[in-house]
Amino acid sequence: MKSSEFSLNGRAVENLIRQTLKKHPSPVMIIRRSVLLRQYRRFLTHLPQITPYYAIKANPHPEILKVFARLGAHFDVASAHEMNLVLSLGVPPHRLIFANTIKSIEDIQAAYRRRVRLMTFDNEPELYKIAKHAPGTRVLARIKVENVGSVVELSLKFGADPEHAVFLLRKAKSLGLRPEGVSFHVGSQCTRIENYVQALEISSAIFRETREEGLTLNVLDIGGGFPIRHFDHENHTCFELLARTVRKEAARLFDQKTRIIAEPGRFLVGPAGVLVTQVVGRTFRNNKNYYYLNDGIYGDFSGIVFDHCKYELKTLRRGQKFLSTVAGPTCDSFDTISLSEELPELDVGSVVYAKNIGAYSSASAVQSFNGFAPAKIVMTD
Ligand SMILES: *Cc1c(COP(=O)(O)O)cnc(C)c1O
Repeated sequence: MKSSEFSLNGRAVENLIRQTLKKHPSPVMIIRRSVLLRQYRRFLTHLPQITPYYAIKANPHPEILKVFARLGAHFDVASAHEMNLVLSLGVPPHRLIFANTIKSIEDIQAAYRRRVRLMTFDNEPELYKIAKHAPGTRVLARIKVENVGSVVELSLKFGADPEHAVFLLRKAKSLGLRPEGVSFHVGSQCTRIENYVQALEISSAIFRETREEGLTLNVLDIGGGFPIRHFDHENHTCFELLARTVRKEAARLFDQKTRIIAEPGRFLVGPAGVLVTQVVGRTFRNNKNYYYLNDGIYGDFSGIVFDHCKYELKTLRRGQKFLSTVAGPTCDSFDTISLSEELPELDVGSVVYAKNIGAYSSASAVQSFNGFAPAKIVMTD
């Protein structure tokens, strides 16, 4: 399955980096349009019955949104600001889902004004807000499901107890809303297929129970979580295998009329990003090489903290490798990228880069802590 990850071979990446540095100073985040396209197609190929809504929190850069908008994609937005970003590109409002279960009244009103009529919720007070400020909205009850084994846990903060879902959907109806289905998120970078299987089973039980009460649901939102490879030699469950199971279970548990949607973020944009940094300082200390890069934890390596992510640091140098510490440019010890990288001898100006870093990186970077700006995003084919 390795070939299906579509990673450029080493030499091609290195050429791309050299070409880019001729035109742009580092740090620079290269986003490859061809990879965005391939990931999108890969999703459609392996989950042909499921409509993907790109979760723009993974990377909301307008040029990335434009690529997906041109493909006719759907979008998952979590705030009025994200909604406006997508709508301003000419995406029709019916292609958006407002998938934050906790929304401010102002944001609900904005959605109503802008005709975004599909939302998730996971509690009763939220229903009162939606019913009052966006009457008639189509709503999906987000339920809490197992996030075991996923790198980022998303069920601590969100999701109604499944036993409560039928009550909530009935309540939505009584308030004049249109209860249409169920949504869940198995946790981000989910490599445990069982999470999806269990969540699908729980959802189908809710569909059955509501039907018995005379309420027919027709939308199932399976959220995000689809994993990518961050390291070249990682060997976890691949997307294709996961997709096959999801396809089979969805066909077994839901009837043909159920519209199934998903909210992939990382999967669509992660593999498209190559972050290129350079060494700005070096020393030898504690028997180790110390390298200071011009991007760090406050910038495009913020995913190390917020996304619990690890990246494979690479260089353009060959030669014997030594244990090294790699840190960012700010005056904060916390700004340490790695205490134990095996790297060849590097100098000031040497390139250090990471692949598969397009998601949850620039999106959560601080704009100018200590005066250091995150990497400029450069789109390439
Ligand atoms: C973050 C998020 C996503 C995207 O998750 P990935 O793991 O990046 O695919 C989808 N839906 C919701 C509600 C989210 O919060």
